[in-house]
Amino acid sequence: MRIFETAFPDPPAEDLRATMAANPPSPRRAGFLSTAKLYAHGAAEAFAETLWPTRCAVCDEPGEVLCARCSLDLPHIDWWRACPRCGAPFGRVQCSECNDVMLAASGRDRLPFDGCASAAAYDDATARIVRTWKDAGERRLADAMAALMAPLVPPSWLAGSPAVVPVPATSAARRKRGFDHIDELSRAVAERLGLAVAPLLAPPHAHDQRALARRGRLENMQGRFAPLPGASAPSSAIIVDDVCTTGATLFAASDAVRAAGARTVFCLTFARVW
Ligand SMILES: [Zn+2]
Ligand SMILES: [Zn+2]
Repeated sequence: MRIFETAFPDPPAEDLRATMAANPPSPRRAGFLSTAKLYAHGAAEAFAETLWPTRCAVCDEPGEVLCARCSLDLPHIDWWRACPRCGAPFGRVQCSECNDVMLAASGRDRLPFDGCASAAAYDDATARIVRTWKDAGERRLADAMAALMAPLVPPSWLAGSPAVVPVPATSAARRKRGFDHIDELSRAVAERLGLAVAPLLAPPHAHDQRALARRGRLENMQGRFAPLPGASAPSSAIIVDDVCTTGATLFAASDAVRAAGARTVFCLTFARVW
């Protein structure tokens, strides 16, 4: 090892950079290199696909991250029957979730957002999709979820050219997963709707919500979101999150987006517990 190092010493990094800057690859060579990279990437993907075939997050059949049958069988929330204000699945005529009594129990006299919609009810299948996406790192599911969420956005939401605002993950969650899952979901939704993404909110320091009951969740999240320093709020926003459990996160995020200056705030999630 020492012999090779002595015989062929590495050129100093500065020399290498200077040589490369003085001799950039010709356009043909650059084209060849990028094509070779593409083929190498394709070959690596094909190899990985042979060893670990893509499987449906729900039924585990090989093929797609979410197969057409499972996608169709999800407990879709019918937009025409759901409450247009809070998104409850059967509240279009009379909503049991956002009436005065329920709001008073949350310590509010009105909803902090102007509309809310979710693609599907939270059941075993939707839970598996969310777990496979967030915890098992199947990031391609973000687009499959966005494909079910984007069609729920009515024209009235789009009238003010809203920006998509992701509910930020806590710094601990981002570190654990290695990516900000809601940011990716928001980008997939925004792309399908032709909207911009506005990462307006700073990561919260809230404690884990999972062990808390509704009232506890609402109190735990109260005032947990704040705008990032220097970020300006769009006049209209669609806040995106993966699951609406009690509404506590969406309430807190909506408060912050509104306080930052947005006049119209909507919320869109993939799944909803009811
Ligand atoms: Zn399936
Ligand atoms: Zn409602």
